[in-house]
Amino acid sequence: MAPTNPPCPQCDTEMEKSTEAERNTALRILSVLLFLGSILLILVVPIGIVVGIPLMLISLFFGFRKRKMWKCPNCDYDFERF
Ligand SMILES: [Zn+2]
Repeated sequence: MAPTNPPCPQCDTEMEKSTEAERNTALRILSVLLFLGSILLILVVPIGIVVGIPLMLISLFFGFRKRKMWKCPNCDYDFERF
């Protein structure tokens, strides 16, 4: 038996699962800056690689993560899945 999807709060159509890239522009810019900063840290500071690599991974995680969404095929209303 397939689990039922929640209905759309606006038009009561059954919603579909979808994913989308992070919409928060500030967060994306921050992740790019963090990525560049971590490269700089690795190149400039002798032990920068210890902090730089985890920072780089964190920035990649925030820059490329996908958000899970419910999307209404009828009226395009969407909200985050948890
Ligand atoms: Zn709808």
